[in-house]
Amino acid sequence: MLHLLKTDPDIFRALMSELERQTGQLEMIASENFASEAVMEAEGSAFMNKYAEGYPSHRYYGGCENMDTVESLARERLNMLFGSEYCNVQPHSGSQANMAVYFAMLHPGDTILSMDLAHGGHLSHGSKVNFSGRLYNVVHYGVDRDTETIDFAQVQELAEEHRPRIIVAGASAYPRTIDFMAFRAIADSVGAYLMVDMAHIAGLVASGNHPSPVGIAEFVTSTTHKTLRGPRGGFILTTERYGSLIDSQIFPGIQGGPLMHVIAAKAVAFQEALAPEFKTYCHRVLANAKILADVLATAGFRLVSGGTDNHLILLDLSDKGITGAEAEAVLERAGITVNKNAIPYDPNPPKVTSGIRIGTPALTTRGMGTEEMEEIGGYIVDLLTNPADDALVRDIRKKVRALCERFPLYQSRLDLYRKALEEVG
Ligand SMILES: *Cc1c(COP(=O)(O)O)cnc(C)c1O
Repeated sequence: MLHLLKTDPDIFRALMSELERQTGQLEMIASENFASEAVMEAEGSAFMNKYAEGYPSHRYYGGCENMDTVESLARERLNMLFGSEYCNVQPHSGSQANMAVYFAMLHPGDTILSMDLAHGGHLSHGSKVNFSGRLYNVVHYGVDRDTETIDFAQVQELAEEHRPRIIVAGASAYPRTIDFMAFRAIADSVGAYLMVDMAHIAGLVASGNHPSPVGIAEFVTSTTHKTLRGPRGGFILTTERYGSLIDSQIFPGIQGGPLMHVIAAKAVAFQEALAPEFKTYCHRVLANAKILADVLATAGFRLVSGGTDNHLILLDLSDKGITGAEAEAVLERAGITVNKNAIPYDPNPPKVTSGIRIGTPALTTRGMGTEEMEEIGGYIVDLLTNPADDALVRDIRKKVRALCERFPLYQSRLDLYRKALEEVG
């Protein structure tokens, strides 16, 4: 680290400031988490210097023996974690994983049936501003107005009307368990492929806290950096039957050389997720989300769908006289980081929204439990009820700082960086 300080003090100072931001506030963005020191060590390593186009034992470059070890371990561990038959660990991101499946199975102009972004879906599920919406004919299903859960009658109807080539299940802002069998039945009834994008819930699936789509969907895509707590990246699970089709779409189809340092970090994260402690961690993520939901509901806040089955809560603020954007801002001033989020049938535009999305994975990684969730829930209630009370914001900011100090994170890094900075003055 001293090297970075010496070579590029501007970047070093930004890094220091980011580390202080991450450790000194309450990270409640549902898609974020804190990777372990071991994962970060693997990623910030000499693995990054190597070109390894191709796959283990079939590379286009010499000197790949260690790359083969790393990628083979990542694949074995991933298949063990999810009980899958075949996997690809090279996707640079969740979006790249989805792109590879579409490119493998669809022609431009083919029909995709997926969840509406405004109801909790993802950009890469066919949004107009994304490649998926530009290349394919996209039809969206959503949630029922009353239950705010996936409207399977509508999915069936749309499937029969539009005959999609692929149905996509999975979401970025959906607080409930997803019934993959129901999607399978609908896909079968119209002869469509099923792709499950489990980016948000991969950790919960791995630990048995959400039903698994493996063995149900032909294709399962995911990120590695959300509840799975690895480095930023993606992967695809499939069967032997589609394996080589998927491999050739990732490379040479849409990517060049794999990010071997990231694949090494993925291997480490998969190993961590196979350990019994990861199950305990995921249980606590869910328990924390439940307590937080209870605190907010008891204080009179409306939770979309009435509660949560997973790691996130979608809060409807439309009867509180505060928009999602305003809520995000006041919480941030008090040291609580969340994101504004559209609620189903939101009358406000995406840059404003009527809701916020709150997640517990990152705080649970720090070791926070139900007691802390009650405390934090209380702060959120107070702040959203009195967003103009600056003294309150300052007081809670102080309490948040104290809470963060009780649950240290990346402490040895922080100490090392601080010492280095002191030395240069
Ligand atoms: C986060 C997410 C992705 C995309 O991940 P990136 O790595 O940011 O491309 C894809 N699908 C869903 C459902 C997600 O939540």
